Amino acid sequence: MPRLDDALSKAVGGTSATALKKAFGMTTVEDLLRHYPRRYAQRGELTDISSLQIDEHVTVMAEVKDVSSRRMRERKGLLVEVTVTDGRGDLKLTFFNQPWLADKLKPGRRGLFSGKVTEFRHVRQLTQPDHVLLPDDGDEVDSDSIAAFARALIPVYSATSSVSSWRIARAVSAVLDALEVDESDDPLPVSVRAGRGLLSLGDALVAVHRPDTLDDVTRGRERLQWDEAFVLQVVLAQRRLEARALPAVPRPAHAGGLLEQFDGALPFTLTAGQTVVGDVLSADLARSHPMHRLLQGEVGSGKTVCALRAMLAVVDSGGQAALLAPTEVLAAQHARSITAMLGPLAQGGLLGGSVDGTRVALLTGSQNTAQRRAALLNIVTGDAGIVIGTHALLQESVEFFDLGLVVVDEQHRFGVEQRAALAAKSRDGNRPHVLVMTATPIPRTVAMTVFGDLEVSTLTELPAGRSPIATHVVAPAENPALLSRAWQRIREEVEAGHQAYVVCPRIGEAVGDDDAEAPADDSETERRPPLAVLDVAPRLAEGPLAGLRVGVLHGRLPADEKDDIMRRFAAGADASDGIDVLVATTVIEVGVDVPNATVMVVMDADRFGVSQLHQLRGRVGRGSAPGLCLLVTESPEGSPARERLAAVAASTDGFELSRIDLMARREGDVLGASQSGRRSSLRLLSVLRDEAVIVAARDVASEVVADDPTLEGQPALRRAVSALVDDEQAEFLERS
Ligand code: ADP
Ligand code: MG
Repeated sequence: MPRLDDALSKAVGGTSATALKKAFGMTTVEDLLRHYPRRYAQRGELTDISSLQIDEHVTVMAEVKDVSSRRMRERKGLLVEVTVTDGRGDLKLTFFNQPWLADKLKPGRRGLFSGKVTEFRHVRQLTQPDHVLLPDDGDEVDSDSIAAFARALIPVYSATSSVSSWRIARAVSAVLDALEVDESDDPLPVSVRAGRGLLSLGDALVAVHRPDTLDDVTRGRERLQWDEAFVLQVVLAQRRLEARALPAVPRPAHAGGLLEQFDGALPFTLTAGQTVVGDVLSADLARSHPMHRLLQGEVGSGKTVCALRAMLAVVDSGGQAALLAPTEVLAAQHARSITAMLGPLAQGGLLGGSVDGTRVALLTGSQNTAQRRAALLNIVTGDAGIVIGTHALLQESVEFFDLGLVVVDEQHRFGVEQRAALAAKSRDGNRPHVLVMTATPIPRTVAMTVFGDLEVSTLTELPAGRSPIATHVVAPAENPALLSRAWQRIREEVEAGHQAYVVCPRIGEAVGDDDAEAPADDSETERRPPLAVLDVAPRLAEGPLAGLRVGVLHGRLPADEKDDIMRRFAAGADASDGIDVLVATTVIEVGVDVPNATVMVVMDADRFGVSQLHQLRGRVGRGSAPGLCLLVTESPEGSPARERLAAVAASTDGFELSRIDLMARREGDVLGASQSGRRSSLRLLSVLRDEAVIVAARDVASEVVADDPTLEGQPALRRAVSALVDDEQAEFLERS
């Protein structure tokens, strides 16, 4: 009677167990049964050969069309070449030194063939594939084919060259025959299953591995998806609960402090959303447990102001606030703009400064020793209430006087590890409050999964008076005049006193160290390299933009030069050394704020992701003048790349665009590298498509954890939870 936690070797024998462990890391019966079929072949239905992807390991049901054998010229031995077909397309199979196959694989015979797809002279082939034939009348039927073909729906498992799909099927079959699953083995409590019509674990496993109908498959998968969503949400609910129990110094707002003075001097009124978020943050900060909150919002919705107000509240109550930025450009810009916004409030202790003012310290990796020493001193004495920096802030040598709040800007470039390093910097075992900000909005279910241990606040509206950004796709191949028109538009904007961006995917000259890899499009392998800043800038300066002051910005420039360029670009027409047109890589993608810039031309726009383009164009139209974004592309009308660009042009809804963006990727990439444990635990669940399950599972998980935080009463759930946590830990260790 195999049970789920039995060793695999006990259930399927040593040889198979060893092979399964080697190929998939399986050790228990449960590991095997959680390896769900990837798809189902209908008995008698052939696999569409045209759908096979090169380099993928596939299992194909096909019919033998033609067999021939010949001696090989270069090597000794016999080559058997078999052509199999699905009735439309052909696939070639080659076998070395297996002469008997020429007799066995007779034309008309059907079978499963499994191997890695390659292409040679435009013919797809499998080299040395594994195979099993459909039983034929008069055959001696081998046990492999009994397991593989017993039913109308044949499960197809993802397999490797050493373990074929039908070998897995046979192992599963052997286990399933006698499997015993008790209620106490089921991680989903009955209370959760009942009312939702979810199958028990045992029934669900039978339904997916040994279905009679596709309906069985659906019901089985539904239940197993719930497992994945639920166990993950239980882990996250536990983390939220634990975090809530940690000690933190309350940082309540003070009447008459910096925050109040700052609000009084703000040149605009806060949006309704900003006000709500402000209240939420001050309530969080006033508690004696650390805030763990994600602030996400539309590009340009004013997240930074919200963060700054929270930072000031903390300074008011005697603490320090640190702002972590993903790049030096952004850190320097934050320091500059925050210092400017604070005015006299940032001149604490200086002549002409406000009496209860504080100071802003900037710490980045490229500062010289004197700058660094000054910054470190201001940080350790507490003279700097606001500390801004890159990951240089995480170094051990950086000591805070009293770190109360950490704001992590544009989290997509910051890992969980970095957050942990900063948390360790506060005093007396207290934890700092943490506010994470995303660069672009992300779908709700992705937030629940990727940032599921954080509470979420969202800014959806843009400040009033913001002019909308018009976005157009420019395809010079179809209409060459449009590109000249684009440069003309830049000239007009500059003449009207504005600035413009030209964005390119690559820096240029050296290869392989660009600021960001634009997503590669596998469908076209022989494209020209993406346009480079260092090529485009001089061509524009000598050609269509002659007479304008063209500057260059990319990640390889030294930090002080970057700073200088940004300052001159921000100054624009007003300065004698101002810059009118900035030709840049995606270094400007995050947070760069020059409200006077009104046009952006993105070269090779198809090389960027949808959310990235949305984020990029958020750099224009930040002031009162209307913004214009032109997406220049060579991708042809009707291509998927072109459709993505059309979507960006058609919508300014960042949530919708991030959904489109994520849909185009593999599920694992949606979750990101820091979520690899989570990623491998989600086999059936899609964080984009299965919203209803994820939302429901989160609610139920919160209740279950509130009732029984350590899951004392639910051993199966407890096991599943610790297995997931172990996976995440293991992957974390592997990477660090
Ligand atoms: P993001 O959410 O993209 O980080 P920012 O915080 O950078 O947005 O804000 C974008 C711009 O809008 C900044 O120049 C900021 O000063 C300005 N801004 C923020 N809030 C308001 C508001 N309520 N009214 C007008 N302008 C605002
Ligand atoms: Mg920002």
